[in-house]
Amino acid sequence: MSSSPNLLVKPQGTPGKSNPPMIDPFGRSITYVRVSVTDRCDFRCVYCMAEDMHFLPKQDLLTLEELDRLCTAFVEKGVRKIRITGGEPLVRKNILSLFQALGRHVRSGALDELTLTTNGSQLDRYAAPLREAGVRRVNVSLDTLDPQKFKAITRWGDLSKVMGGIRAAQAAGLSIKLNAVALKGVNEDEISEMIRFAHGEGMDLTLIETMPLGDIDGDRTDQYLPLSLVRAQLSKEFTLEDLDYRTGGPARYVRIKETGGRLGFITPLTHNFCESCNRVRVTCTGTLFMCLGQEDAADLRAPLRASEGNELLSNAIDEAISRKPKGHDFVIDRRSSRPALARHMSVTGG
Ligand code: SAM
Repeated sequence: MSSSPNLLVKPQGTPGKSNPPMIDPFGRSITYVRVSVTDRCDFRCVYCMAEDMHFLPKQDLLTLEELDRLCTAFVEKGVRKIRITGGEPLVRKNILSLFQALGRHVRSGALDELTLTTNGSQLDRYAAPLREAGVRRVNVSLDTLDPQKFKAITRWGDLSKVMGGIRAAQAAGLSIKLNAVALKGVNEDEISEMIRFAHGEGMDLTLIETMPLGDIDGDRTDQYLPLSLVRAQLSKEFTLEDLDYRTGGPARYVRIKETGGRLGFITPLTHNFCESCNRVRVTCTGTLFMCLGQEDAADLRAPLRASEGNELLSNAIDEAISRKPKGHDFVIDRRSSRPALARHMSVTGG
């Protein structure tokens, strides 16, 4: 559906095939941008948000046209992969038009991948048009296969709706990776079942450690489950073979010999992966965070709005990349019950 006249976002600029990447002060190429399109979500996962969240006024958000300009500026600066995230990206009104507009960079060869991270609640209606727009893979966050536990974790979610979304994505020909946050005493007894389910359906599964981001209603030290322990536990049941496979993200993968499928581990706490960091994140208000775990940020909304051309924006991005820090320094322990950072994952874009 490449150039539908109904596009709500009028694409501007089509960068050429190979733009040289931005290089940060530590010699890392910045080729991956995660863009949050909303801080709102239709779930209230206990480790992510408080139940009573205050969201940003809608006028503070970048418009879909501005998001398209912003993403295009990054593509012009050599970014090869864009992940749309949130909040829940698929609850943003007319979000499909942004995917449809950005799809031109996939078709031109300037982008290797346009993808998204979703809770799956809206995938039943969006999977097919996303595929048509140029999306080939989606990450679906799913922490349990048990409907009651699912309700308890997400507070507002409905597992059957997410399962319907996964089916729709499979039917549309999208590759799916499931992401599960490992939660002590909640889903730790279910991880082998989730591996069997995901691999039985031809999906990868990645496990994530809880990160100390944003105030939630509870205490994170109760939820934190080191993946080193999970891995040791899984090795009693499965044969784990280390793989070199990378998706451009921080996960380290193993093949599970018994299922033939891939299992990823994202371990920001037990293993710091910053040395290979290739990404930056932009919030839905246009704030660029050079590191998920640091406060330093650059405002891209003002340069974006200051002129119609992208020169100011491009300069602001360059200046920010020149300050990208070496790494984050998360700690979860009982002596520091405060989150490492005040902002929630749903603000920075998980
Ligand atoms: N709504 C979308 C989704 O569910 O995937 C995208 C945004 S969500 C914030 C992205 C991912 O971050 C989800 O997999 C979620 O489980 C994870 N997440 C949220 N807060 C987290 C935290 N404090 N530690 C680790 N992962 C977290």
